[in-house]
Amino acid sequence: MIEKPRFLMCICTGQCPGFASLNLWELINYVRGELDVEYAIVHPQLCVDDGDRFIHDYIKPGIKYVIGACDPKMQRKMFKDAFANAGGNYDDQVVPLDLRNMSTKDAMNKVKETVDGLKVKSGSKEIS
Ligand code: SF4
Repeated sequence: MIEKPRFLMCICTGQCPGFASLNLWELINYVRGELDVEYAIVHPQLCVDDGDRFIHDYIKPGIKYVIGACDPKMQRKMFKDAFANAGGNYDDQVVPLDLRNMSTKDAMNKVKETVDGLKVKSGSKEIS
């Protein structure tokens, strides 16, 4: 059985102006309640030491993670070693989304499109 993706939101401690127009709780409750994910969680700052420790405890091989955060290139740089150290593979497992400078509605739509896209792919056996 293919497991549903997990949605992981990283929000720059909640203080970054890039997320000023995003209602975090509206977004996270929408994702966990309305979209086809296993669950949705928030980490305040994944790219620092406790974020690495969290990834180390949390990541399981073979699961897809949709990460809402900053620039995908920055995410890759910051998370790929932590995934590898946890026995995962960032490039295979993560769909990084840049949700900065977006309204809550736009962020919801972007996450929905991504999760729906993963569902279509898993239906045609493109992900495992
Ligand atoms: S990973 Fe990106 S969104 Fe998360 S705290 Fe670091 S810079 Fe901010």
